[in-house]
Amino acid sequence: MTELVKSDAWPSVVRTVAELRSTVADWRASRRRVALVPTMGALHDGHLALVQRAYEVADEVVVSIFVNPTQFAPNEDLAAYPKTFESDLQAIANLGCLATVYAPNPGTMYPAGFATTLVLSGPAKVGLEDRFRPTHFEGVATVVAKLFVQSQADIAIFGEKDYQQLMVVTQMTRDLDLSIEVIGHPTVREHDGLAMSSRNRFLSTNERERAPLLYSALQTAAIRLRSGASADMATAEAMKMLEDGGFAIDYFEARHAETLKPLAGRDGEPIRLLAAARLGTTRLIDNTWL
Ligand code: AMP
Repeated sequence: MTELVKSDAWPSVVRTVAELRSTVADWRASRRRVALVPTMGALHDGHLALVQRAYEVADEVVVSIFVNPTQFAPNEDLAAYPKTFESDLQAIANLGCLATVYAPNPGTMYPAGFATTLVLSGPAKVGLEDRFRPTHFEGVATVVAKLFVQSQADIAIFGEKDYQQLMVVTQMTRDLDLSIEVIGHPTVREHDGLAMSSRNRFLSTNERERAPLLYSALQTAAIRLRSGASADMATAEAMKMLEDGGFAIDYFEARHAETLKPLAGRDGEPIRLLAAARLGTTRLIDNTWL
């Protein structure tokens, strides 16, 4: 194993709610604005862009690293989810900033007897990710609400890569009057357009070559929609492209950009194209604006 070089900017790691609260209380006492970047680790440049954005909008940054078991269904890849804690710390250190990493143990987040889960509707129940992962967003919203309350951050940064998640978290924050501002950050992509994801490492060489087609299909559909094609026609053509490229499609849809409801067909309606498709055993999601 390569020896990691610990620079002066090595992040401090806190593991308990009490430690996190005391760190944040010190910042607040000196009127520092605090941003939170929730992650499940296996950090890549997409996550690091969120951390950089956090430093643009706040004075202090907490990056949480917690692989949240409650957002995985029993048939999903919780055990296989990549865990790269030391290199995650190195990646944050390489940014040259003094972020605090909050890495609670599962028992800290879900102590024995834990019995509360948020019940969601609105953008969490629109037949996109929720159709394929029915309990996923309840797990996400519950852990995110806990992270918000634990960190008492002023701002939280989420990636547009998980667009439905961003809408669910925005809705939850508004509905529960949580005093935190949720900011979405554009998707960071590989040079060929593939959205960065910790799951990309599971693609075979051949699948990796074909994977950028997901974003190409989204862009093609966006161009067709902009030039007046109907949503049905634009998405049908894009789905054909993907199927020809060997993808198994879960969904490929044009939706209202905020509610994520099916389009009402009104002029000027904000539209987002969202897709999930599988290459072999790897499930990719992506989206684009119009
Ligand atoms: P994850 O740990 O992958 O579940 O994601 C943690 C945060 O990083 C979420 O807000 C994601 O939307 C965001 N994120 C993941 N991949 C990207 C990307 N390629 N570009 C921007 N944000 C991303």
